[in-house]
Amino acid sequence: MLRLLWFLPAAVLCGQVLEDSKLRVRLLPDASIELTDKTAGAVWILHPPAIAGKTASEIHLRPGKATALEFVANGLEFRLRLSGGALDYELTVEPAQREVWLLNRSLEIGPGAQSYYAIPKRLGILLFAEGSEPFTRRWRAYETGSGYSMAMFGAVKEGAALLVHWEDPYTDIISEYSPTPPRLTMSLALRRTARRVRLQPLGRGGYVEIARAYREVARRRGFLKTLAEKVRENPAVERFFGAADFKPFAYMRRVAHTRWNKTDRDIYDLNFTFRECADLAEHFHRDLGMDRGLLVLNGWIRGGYDNLHPDVLPAAEAIGGDAGLAECARRVKALGEWLFGLHDNYQDMYEDAPSWDPALLMKDSDGSPRRGGVWAGGQAWLICSRESVKLASRPQNVPGVVKQFGPDLYFSDTVFAAPLYECHDPRHPLTKHDDLRYKQELCRYLRRTVGLFGSEEGREWGVPVADYFEGLMSHRTGFQQATQTDIVAPLFHLVYADCIPIYAHQSDRPRPDNPEYILHHILYAEMPVYYFGRHRYWLDPEQHYRPPQDAGERLVFARGGRFNLIDQFIKNTWEVLSPLHRQTALSPMTDHRFLTPDRRVERTRFAGAVEITVNYGPADYQIGSVVLPRYGFLIQSPSLVAFHARRYRGIEYRDPPLFVLRSLDGKPLAASARVRIYRGFGDRRVEFRGRVLEVDEVRILSSDR
Ligand SMILES: [Zn+2]
Repeated sequence: MLRLLWFLPAAVLCGQVLEDSKLRVRLLPDASIELTDKTAGAVWILHPPAIAGKTASEIHLRPGKATALEFVANGLEFRLRLSGGALDYELTVEPAQREVWLLNRSLEIGPGAQSYYAIPKRLGILLFAEGSEPFTRRWRAYETGSGYSMAMFGAVKEGAALLVHWEDPYTDIISEYSPTPPRLTMSLALRRTARRVRLQPLGRGGYVEIARAYREVARRRGFLKTLAEKVRENPAVERFFGAADFKPFAYMRRVAHTRWNKTDRDIYDLNFTFRECADLAEHFHRDLGMDRGLLVLNGWIRGGYDNLHPDVLPAAEAIGGDAGLAECARRVKALGEWLFGLHDNYQDMYEDAPSWDPALLMKDSDGSPRRGGVWAGGQAWLICSRESVKLASRPQNVPGVVKQFGPDLYFSDTVFAAPLYECHDPRHPLTKHDDLRYKQELCRYLRRTVGLFGSEEGREWGVPVADYFEGLMSHRTGFQQATQTDIVAPLFHLVYADCIPIYAHQSDRPRPDNPEYILHHILYAEMPVYYFGRHRYWLDPEQHYRPPQDAGERLVFARGGRFNLIDQFIKNTWEVLSPLHRQTALSPMTDHRFLTPDRRVERTRFAGAVEITVNYGPADYQIGSVVLPRYGFLIQSPSLVAFHARRYRGIEYRDPPLFVLRSLDGKPLAASARVRIYRGFGDRRVEFRGRVLEVDEVRILSSDR
């Protein structure tokens, strides 16, 4: 009799099941959900939702239907439906001011290398159930510090993968860890308009498969606009391929009593005149042989960098004024495929600007204007995104700049770095949805008016409306994150690598003793924002780089002795990165692996048979017949091979060299009639097509010779 009673609920439950060929969903009487991935044989458990901080207790299951399961919890109605191998789980009404945890401490995973969460924090991180301290972490939509860059996350349990995604920015990801026993759980907090999430089991797999599946979602949402599509619309986009980013901070006023200037008098920094800015680009072009590059001027505006926005014209008098800037633009644009750009800002406004107007600022819920950061020009106030195109399109702003200087590209600061805001000014109210839409409008306006456009950091909603991101790579370089212990994995690249060039932050520039920065860029096939000196630094020994005492082997990529250390480092690394980026720009990243348990050796693959391995050391790493020392790397592809290796194709190197071999006629190296070999430093010998060649710096092999 007792046995029978135990079985009774199961019989009742027969109606509370949805099933297709991939997936079975069971709704249990307490509103918990059992999601079975039939392909992987994995079962994921979702606990009953929580409403305003409490797990729902008053549960009423509606009679199950073939197409949907429904229940009411604490007066709110929830619905489950299957669609194309995924489970749609939703609230039937908006949560409004309540916070509903639709996923409530669910999708639990335990310890082990095959169990983790993949979180799209900036480039992406992996979270394992490990450590002695409990923690709770929350990520908000499209924020930098504690936000996510893509509206998704992945869960992997003992090798079975699950993709979870949603659209509404009023959705937060929360992960909680408890150490005894080690376990991680996931929650999704919904408020305002957010009411839906989709759970998509993927069978066996990991974060690579999760990113691949999300790529299709991103395509449907309109975020996945590839560089191939962008080039078709604007051929100038191709000039980003292989182009490093050079940003001289030309002129700056640092106002008194700020963290930028603690004295009681304003300080004026004059780092470059407009003439010296043009000299800089010509130097890289002529002396270092860089056929492409970005020269994007900071601090060209009337008040200097981060001053007096939105009033930018005339160009800073102290460094040459309008005539000087026009001549600079002319000289840089004359350098073949170089792009001439200007840095501006349509989110920050300063009180001492001639057209200061508080009516255009974002307002907090109490009606007061919202403060931005304190920058070189002092306290900035945030312009409502609904008003920013109006400011940018005034004759004295972007149209005037275009008319006088004709930049190839425009950089408008902070667009993809700042959070999505709400504005409470009744004249121009904003929800987060609106803010996203108006920020995209600004991007479209700048692109339409100037040609090419980029902004700070990077988010998926910026991918279709921008030509480059500047900042997101700094997640990988660890810039300003000395205590960072997250395991960074290239989730964003696995989704969007062939859609947009991604640079590090303009303040995150590699000095000659920073080989890791270069390895990160080799691994992800991105171009750097280089460090360089002030004025005509290459002509002035006083401006040359003096390495710290302990630099030692960290100076590896600055070896060669042909230039000062800054230029030798730029030259050697550009010779590797630029052809690599040209080769991969249109290719999706198809794989990423950590090759050693300590995660100090990593490999990526791009479509088109490009394979990249980097060794952060300290031990040598062997790949077939190739041995990579610390800071060693190997790029293998049909038409480009590059390495810094201790052994390569049978040659043992006592002094491990840097070599780049590339085909100049588009054919694979093995069949090419014209091959260029670059040697940066180290042993002169390299094996090519069965012969050992000696190379000093550059050698061109022509088969008609
Ligand atoms: Zn507003």
